[in-house]
Amino acid sequence: MSKKPHGGKPPHKWTSYFYISDEKRNKTYKTAKCLACINANDSSLIVEEMNNKRERCRNHLKDCSRFKAQFNEEEWASIYASILQEQEEDRQKRLEKTRGKKRLRENDNDNQDVTSLVSTLPSINSTFTSLSTQSIQPTFLDTQPSNDSILFYMPRRLTTESTKHWYNLVLRATVSCGWPFRWVENDEAREMIRFANPSLPLPSRKNLAGSILEDTAKDIKLSLESIAQSEKIGLTVAFDGWKNVVKQSILGTVIITSSGRSIVWEAKDISAERSRSEEAINQIETWLDESKKKGLKIICIVTDSAGAYTAAR
Ligand SMILES: [Zn+2]
Repeated sequence: MSKKPHGGKPPHKWTSYFYISDEKRNKTYKTAKCLACINANDSSLIVEEMNNKRERCRNHLKDCSRFKAQFNEEEWASIYASILQEQEEDRQKRLEKTRGKKRLRENDNDNQDVTSLVSTLPSINSTFTSLSTQSIQPTFLDTQPSNDSILFYMPRRLTTESTKHWYNLVLRATVSCGWPFRWVENDEAREMIRFANPSLPLPSRKNLAGSILEDTAKDIKLSLESIAQSEKIGLTVAFDGWKNVVKQSILGTVIITSSGRSIVWEAKDISAERSRSEEAINQIETWLDESKKKGLKIICIVTDSAGAYTAAR
């Protein structure tokens, strides 16, 4: 009874349960009538005509008692399951589509849009305004909201762990861009960060140049040490001295692993010492003692031919 459509889209999953007439309901869809309803032999029943669209046909079958009556319990259970599954898949697809659009829209947002978005959320709005008056005590969400909630897109308070990471990023950007540490206390800079996420705390200049810098340097030093300690064949140490722009004598140390990786180990200010050659000898000796304690395996020492180091040989 059902006719196979010729050309165009391939028939959808539920087509076989419908009578498809060539008569078109609109530009896209032909007319579909439920076969179970047609065959019900119920003169009082007006058989529903619908677009021959997968979702539309599926939704009819889901609620059609005549259709259901054709199957035993087990068969119906499996058909019903596949209807529900399809419904869920469609829902997910729609969700992804709207999310994609939302993201696009967010990228286009300017300040005004964000402000109007925030003002629709009264509890967050009050935090937002209080933040504008310089108090960095946000009361944002502590938990991660689920993906389809609008709160997912709202800023949230950092955990202790992620605060450390954030400070680390701030420090790295500062060093990498050559910004003076005081940039974190600049009003414009603070406003920029606050716009991106009002709950992101910027450290004070003292903190950034103090404990955060020290902690990060310590972490880096430790990770370098562990690389050097894991060396099996032996390390080469290179010493070099130079004077920096403020005329300090600097003794630099670079360690080279057997695989050719060079590690910038340290740079020491030795300008306080009276004789550079004596100091160079001392420095290298204490350095070797220390490295032994740390379990470094040194097999070669390299210096340049500057007077002090020639003496140290
Ligand atoms: Zn029906």
